[in-house]
Amino acid sequence: QQLTSPELRARFLNYFETQQHVPIKSASLVPHNDKSLLFTNAGMVPFKDFFLKPDTAPFKAATSVQKCMRAGGKHNDLDNVGYTARHHTFFEMLGNFSFGQYTKKEAIRYAWRFLVDELKLPLSRLRVTILEGDEEGYKLWKNEGLSDDMIVRCGEEDNFWSMGDGEGPCGPCTEIFWDTQDDTLDERWLEIWNLVFMENYREADGKLTKLPIPCIDTGMGLERMVCVLQGKNNNFQIDQFETLIGGLRQVMKTRGIESISSVDPNPHEKIIADHFRAMCFLIGDGVVPSNVGRGYVLRRIIRRALRSARQLGIHEPFLTDLYPHLLAGFEDGSYPELTSRASSIRSVVTNEERSFLATLDRGMALLENVFSQPDLQGSKAIPPAIAFQLYDTFGFPFDLTLIIAKEKGWTVDIKAVEALQEQQKQLGRESWKVDAITNKARLAEWRNKNIMPKFSGYDRSMLHQTSE
Ligand code: ATP
Ligand code: MG
Ligand code: MG
Ligand code: MG
Repeated sequence: QQLTSPELRARFLNYFETQQHVPIKSASLVPHNDKSLLFTNAGMVPFKDFFLKPDTAPFKAATSVQKCMRAGGKHNDLDNVGYTARHHTFFEMLGNFSFGQYTKKEAIRYAWRFLVDELKLPLSRLRVTILEGDEEGYKLWKNEGLSDDMIVRCGEEDNFWSMGDGEGPCGPCTEIFWDTQDDTLDERWLEIWNLVFMENYREADGKLTKLPIPCIDTGMGLERMVCVLQGKNNNFQIDQFETLIGGLRQVMKTRGIESISSVDPNPHEKIIADHFRAMCFLIGDGVVPSNVGRGYVLRRIIRRALRSARQLGIHEPFLTDLYPHLLAGFEDGSYPELTSRASSIRSVVTNEERSFLATLDRGMALLENVFSQPDLQGSKAIPPAIAFQLYDTFGFPFDLTLIIAKEKGWTVDIKAVEALQEQQKQLGRESWKVDAITNKARLAEWRNKNIMPKFSGYDRSMLHQTSE
């Protein structure tokens, strides 16, 4: 059977509702009253306080499909995106929770029954891990009919879960894995579901104490489970991503850009699709691009998406053209903010996109001039002062300078650029005059050498011809 994403959401909630769980709507990606956490990174985050004081919970068991974001802090998958088959920055977590209603035995039974009876996954492709020394967990799995070779013992690194590095509820866990039977993947065994036995609390000083009542927190990645159910070998090939990446390819085609047609999307396509979902959901939850905190993560995500777009040959604003293709993946209305806040989401995305593209264009033009300097052809080294100025004056990301240099077969003396950054810091405010003078002299020198880009009457299409 081929379940779709909306069907899996419904099936999961329905299953746990029949088991006396109260269905709770996804909370915001921005955690309320929690300065310790950048973003909601697991289904348990909105219920954090209930684990500490179960008697204050309005329900003893709950189930949810929670928007999650892992792009900072303890759980950070930003650099995995595009390069593993299973990581996103934004994803949905299916979960069931007990605040004193049931414990390990039921948690294990519910999860196993859901996978085997409801979703009809074949036993032969499932394995579980338990924390070394967790004999109770071992017995409970045996009672569900698992043979010894299906139960793998792991250390705390994998089987002791906590939300963040600091203070908070935590505990041993047992995880369920799926055999992809694909040895070409980064990991043949795909982790699909984590069942956490919330029994402990980590104090601010690192000390571990017992919670008053043992609780249950489980989390299963929706995209991963859909990937298993749809028989795909990569999360980016499931229904929602097929729509979104299909949309991206269509956008490229209508703009006359040659697009990729492989079944498995190229890493840049994956990054664009992933980051586009992330930016829309973040803005939908009220985050705006800025230079600090959550806004800075959002800004970086948008810029990374645009950098990947540039690698695919897209140089003009395009992101909002993807919006209908994102909506198509959430037609069940599970996230009404995607439609009710569509116009603000789109305008924030477009504004940020335009300002960054202008920055990129200026920086690219300057770099092109460097690359064509006759006296630099021998060394093929970008002068550190220029690399520094690019980022310091023009806001052009240094890592981008490095990537472009590499593509062109040029080098950058990273240490020297860092030294200039350091020098800049040390000079501080007092010496702004001196700095302005040296900058002026430097700019004049470049102008004489014809290194400066011509800002007036500057034509973007020219840049694209020269930068190919
Ligand atoms: P992994 O080891 O694959 O990075 P994890 O152990 O960090 O996963 P958990 O913190 O246990 O993940 O989260 C519970 C579940 O959420 C996982 O079993 C997985 O199904 C899903 N999940 C975790 N991180 C991601 C991600 N970046 N993208 C998509 N799904 C994820
Ligand atoms: Mg992880
Ligand atoms: Mg893991
Ligand atoms: Mg895990």
